[in-house]
Amino acid sequence: MYRMLCNPVLVYLLKKSGIFAAKFFSMTNPFFTSFSTPYGVPPFDIIQEKHYAPAIKAGIKDQKQEIKAITSNPATSDFTNIILALESSGKIIRRTAAVMYNLSYANTTPLLQKIMQKLAPALSAHSDSIFMNVALFKRVKYVWDHRSQFGIKGEDFRLLELYYKNFIRSGANLSSADKKRVADINQRLTILSLQFGKNILDTINSFQLIIDDSNDLSGLPDDLVVAATETANICGHEGKWVFTLQNASVMPFLQYAENRKLRHEIWHAYVNKGNQGNASDNNGLIAEMVRLRAEKAVLLGYKSHAHYVLEEQMAKVPDQVSALLQQLWSQAIAMAQKEADTLQQSINQDGQPFKLEAWDWRYYAEKGRKQKYDFDETALKPYFSLETVQQGIFDIAQKLYGLTFVEVHHLPVYHPEVRTFEITEKGFKKTGILYLDYFPRSSKQGGAWMTTFVEQQKEKNKRVLPVISIVCNFTKQVGSTPSLLTFDEVNTFFHEFGHALHGLLSNVRYLSLSGTNVPTDFVELPSQIMENWCEDPELLRSYARHYLTDEKISDAIIEKMDKSRKYGQGFATVEYLSACLLDMAYHTLSDGNITNIQSFEEDTLRKAGLIPEIIPRYRSTYFSHIFAGGYSSGYYSYIWSEVLDADAFSVFKKKGLFDAETAASFRKNILEKGGTVDPMKLYVRFRGQKPDISPLLKKRGLDSA
Ligand SMILES: [Zn+2]
Repeated sequence: MYRMLCNPVLVYLLKKSGIFAAKFFSMTNPFFTSFSTPYGVPPFDIIQEKHYAPAIKAGIKDQKQEIKAITSNPATSDFTNIILALESSGKIIRRTAAVMYNLSYANTTPLLQKIMQKLAPALSAHSDSIFMNVALFKRVKYVWDHRSQFGIKGEDFRLLELYYKNFIRSGANLSSADKKRVADINQRLTILSLQFGKNILDTINSFQLIIDDSNDLSGLPDDLVVAATETANICGHEGKWVFTLQNASVMPFLQYAENRKLRHEIWHAYVNKGNQGNASDNNGLIAEMVRLRAEKAVLLGYKSHAHYVLEEQMAKVPDQVSALLQQLWSQAIAMAQKEADTLQQSINQDGQPFKLEAWDWRYYAEKGRKQKYDFDETALKPYFSLETVQQGIFDIAQKLYGLTFVEVHHLPVYHPEVRTFEITEKGFKKTGILYLDYFPRSSKQGGAWMTTFVEQQKEKNKRVLPVISIVCNFTKQVGSTPSLLTFDEVNTFFHEFGHALHGLLSNVRYLSLSGTNVPTDFVELPSQIMENWCEDPELLRSYARHYLTDEKISDAIIEKMDKSRKYGQGFATVEYLSACLLDMAYHTLSDGNITNIQSFEEDTLRKAGLIPEIIPRYRSTYFSHIFAGGYSSGYYSYIWSEVLDADAFSVFKKKGLFDAETAASFRKNILEKGGTVDPMKLYVRFRGQKPDISPLLKKRGLDSA
């Protein structure tokens, strides 16, 4: 995961933020001028929460003046006085928003949350006022229409195209009646998607599986039982055990609970979230959202919502996405069917034969995994102390890209736990600054992400050093035992580090096109490819060492880890792909008219050939990615990027994990280029051909299906 902040078209993406409560205009506000810290990192030691609102207020005022200056410029419009002027406008907002948004995730306070909520509408309205500005659009369009005469090429062309398209896609070209309709639709969609998310939460909170007989806990791991006891105490069921529809509760329950009837009960509640015909029912909301999205797409001149969304992605058109999904689907279904047969055998051997159902799958799959590859996760952890893994990652970056990481202590940080590193090349040339914020805090959101405080760009032909941050929630040290990571956490670290390299090695002219400012279905390539280094047996042998004895991880463990990774991939792939199919089915409709969501879902999946023992990872009524998040027509992105990373890594596999030429090519063609070139072109430049799906099939063990 990564978070994209202060993207060029500035506030365009900043759809949150805004109070204007502060009535004073302090000249000491650190956001009013560029930061005079080393490398221009944010002066966290000076920044206070009271600075945000006045800075955003001043920033909006400032940018409005800048826009006015652009639209009233008597000179003939050209690339410099329109596009470059736009690109360099809004500096105060950008500076402030980068810090404010990042801290709201990594080190928030109730006050900051309040400030953000109040600032949101103002920033959103400010963004609309730019992209619906008729006079401004006229000038941008003039430059676009005269692009050949002006001889606009390369990065300049990409920047012009980015701005022009953003205006078009916001509806700047429409009649005023249609503009109003688009604005109304946007507003309604925002309300619907918030309601969608709220309904899911309400359904989750309205269900409890209360157990009062300890026999019914059979098979459950101790920590899950402890958590269920705590939940019971909180909801006034002392002495009992309560399980909920939160993933951390329901998923392990389905995986471990021996009681089949109870598995069925909680599964049934889980798959019917938002589908209970009550006040929290999402069916009607989905129908309306799908219809409105289609209407907006058609108004803007697209065949469907998917066409509108995908135009900006590497996939470009829905057919490309369908082709990929289909290609994977048949292999995955075949593998899942094999897995189903094995699970059925295991049920039969249990002595109480019944037909495998969806609520049995995780339970019997876990049983099979244990039998086949049992190894204790906790026995792995001593080989992955945080310091060992960090050094392992730095060494890999050194071998691949010649980067040296040196921890420094003179840069301001937003929390004492945050560590800072200077990155140099060839012993002297500065590449960038990396912040590492490893451990959970109550002020930090869950998960892990990479983000940016200062984006790379060029000012007067000089490379501005990027300031990148990785934020995680890793296992903390306990007493004298250092932080020991699970393999999942190690993987996460490599993943986020891959995003960080994309930001750190960026070498482009314009901020809007720098680093991770690339399509969603391309942005996970640099991150996911790094995971291959973490898993590679050769590398594991070099960096995974016992924190007490310094002994290397054994080959037997490595082999078990490898095999266990491929286990159950038929199920995982089918579960994921069927959700992708649903996403595409809804959003390729031109009229968006669906009378019954439940039968639409059923028909779509039946036609695709989904086996009844598996349900999509998300059924429609709780598919938040596409109805409450930003992934509509985009859920396929994860596997799209996975095709790229597996295929790209196959080159390293073939030529050597640290082959200098391959690494240099990956850096030059992918990591340095940001969004300055079409992603497929970049990929082909590195790979010499378009991505091939077979390395992914092999990696997921689907090639033998
Ligand atoms: Zn990611």
